[in-house]
Amino acid sequence: MDRTSKHIVIVGGGYVGMYTGLRLQRTLRRELRNGSVRITLIDPQSYMTYQPFLPEAAAGSISPRHVVAPLRRVLPKIRILNGKVAKVNHEQRELTFEPIVGEPREIGYDVVVMAAGSVSRTLPIPGLADAAIGFKSVGEAIALRNRVLALLDRAESADDEDVRRRALTFVVVGGGFAGIEALAELQDMTDDAISYYPSIKKGDLRWVLIEATDRILPEVGPEMGTWTAEQLRERGIELKMSTRLNSVVGGQVETSDGDSFEAATVVWTAGVKAAPIVLSGDLPLDERGRIKTTTQLTVSGVEGAFAAGDVAGVPDLTHPGEYCAPNAQHAVRQAKVLGDNITAYLRGRPLRDYKHKYVGSVAGLGLHKGVANVYGVKLRGWPAWFMHRTYHLSRVPTTNRKVRVMADWTLSLFFRRETVSLGEIEHPRDQFRAAAAG
Ligand SMILES: Cc1cc2nc3c(=O)[nH]c(=O)nc-3n(C[C@H](O)[C@H](O)[C@H](O)COP(=O)(O)OP(=O)(O)OC[C@H]3O[C@@H](n4cnc5c(N)ncnc54)[C@H](O)[C@@H]3O)c2cc1C
Repeated sequence: MDRTSKHIVIVGGGYVGMYTGLRLQRTLRRELRNGSVRITLIDPQSYMTYQPFLPEAAAGSISPRHVVAPLRRVLPKIRILNGKVAKVNHEQRELTFEPIVGEPREIGYDVVVMAAGSVSRTLPIPGLADAAIGFKSVGEAIALRNRVLALLDRAESADDEDVRRRALTFVVVGGGFAGIEALAELQDMTDDAISYYPSIKKGDLRWVLIEATDRILPEVGPEMGTWTAEQLRERGIELKMSTRLNSVVGGQVETSDGDSFEAATVVWTAGVKAAPIVLSGDLPLDERGRIKTTTQLTVSGVEGAFAAGDVAGVPDLTHPGEYCAPNAQHAVRQAKVLGDNITAYLRGRPLRDYKHKYVGSVAGLGLHKGVANVYGVKLRGWPAWFMHRTYHLSRVPTTNRKVRVMADWTLSLFFRRETVSLGEIEHPRDQFRAAAAG
């Protein structure tokens, strides 16, 4: 290793990791060219996922390949390593890297950026780990799409009423962004798809939301949240408010309101917690188990460590005493300040504070349906859906992806959306194995 150059290691290539890399590629252009700075980014995946497009990918409005940005193409000046960071020993300025294949190895650094995001926050509910699926990755979104469509196939082909009822019952737990958008987009897709299934009527499908509080979509405020709830009810979706999932052993859903029914699909989107890497190392954590971070996006009490996004507890300067919510709006903006602060740190200049007032949000609720509350402007239905699409199109990284997403949407104006299940992709060797077994 060249000891004369400064080595920056970014742990995680999602929003914070990729946008910090982009910023550093620009601000440290000279240093990267003359070799006085090297940057390495580590992530198990070779792409950044634009999570707000996952519901549309699940519904078949956007191709899954178009909701990701390839890290090696976007960050040509940065070395990308695929695998995961298993431990950070900051005192020694060293982390343990586990490549996809091969032995783990130690990597030394001068500056570390913790950008490992979050994972689903689950509860010890009987049956949950076996019966449910999360909704945070492209893999989960596409597996869910395939599953929902395969269940329509199963119901159409079955005579047994119990089999049909179970197949056509879909449950989503958690009424935030991810849960509501996934529920609304998938329900919209099945409404379209059933025209190809003569024996399935709209009333045969049961979509249920289980939400522990008395409101949904807090990101768009109480008024728009209430409006969204009314819209979903009008579409035939059951909203179980102030209700908890108690058990889901073998797909038998038991809820705290005393209801009990079978469901072949349970999607868990009830909150997130910091990625588990935070537990393996010597960086300080806050009371919620995230990396304790200052307003300048440095890790509290240590030198040469920075953190932002879902993995970090960043104080919200616009609401003293509170933390920034884990969302992309903060993650992207934090990454810019973080990149600039690393540059300032290396050049011995003062760092600046991160301060951003949450401006509200937009959410898609299916084709031509949406809700928005941005800078106090509240929109419903088609205008909100249009705003949701234009906003996210402007935000999805790289011109290449923008054009591809636009092409997907344009095609869907002329052709009905694809409603075929390619569940076989998840078991590509089954047929060959059966043939080989004779
Ligand atoms: C379905 C869905 C819809 C959403 N919609 C919106 C929206 O409309 N608006 C909004 O503002 N926010 C939205 N969000 C939230 C937003 O996507 C997240 O807040 C944002 O992705 C956080 O960025 P991040 O960089 O902290 O984490 P991520 O983008 O999740 O990136 C973390 C990266 O770290 C990697 N990683 C994890 N552990 C390790 C390890 N040990 N070693 C190396 N790498 C590791 C992961 O593979 C991942 O690539 C949505 C989220 C979901 C799931």
